[in-house]
Amino acid sequence: MPRILVVDDSSTVRKLIINILKKEDYETVEAVDGVDALEKLAQNDIDLIIADLNMPRMNGLELIRTIRQDPLYTDIPIVMLTTEGSDEDKKRGFEAGANVYLVKPAPPSLILYKIGSLLGAKDQ
Ligand SMILES: [Mg+2]
Repeated sequence: MPRILVVDDSSTVRKLIINILKKEDYETVEAVDGVDALEKLAQNDIDLIIADLNMPRMNGLELIRTIRQDPLYTDIPIVMLTTEGSDEDKKRGFEAGANVYLVKPAPPSLILYKIGSLLGAKDQ
C-alpha cells in the first residue's frame, strides 16, 4: 500500500488523520514539524505527504518549498491540511507547491477522495 507522511505539530490531529488513513489500509509515517518531516522523508519511501501549515521550527509552506526544490521530491503529491482557510493562504499554499489545499476539519471522505485521486494520477 502507498505510504503517507503525516506532518502536524498536534498529536491529536496526527492520530485523527492516521485513523482515517488506516481504515483504507494506507501505511503511515508521522512527523511533528517541517524539520522532522524532511528527516522522515529521507529515511522512508513516501508516496504522498499531508502537511499542516502552522508548526514550530519549520512551517508547512517552508517545508513544501524545500521539498519542491529537491529533484528527488518534485513529483511527490502534497496535501496541505490547515485551519487557515483564507484565499491568500490557499494561494500561498499552491504557489509553494501543494497539489491540494484542505481546511480543517475536512470530512474524512473528502481527504480520502483527494488522496485517491492524487495517487491514481501518479500511477497513470
Ligand atoms: Mg499546527
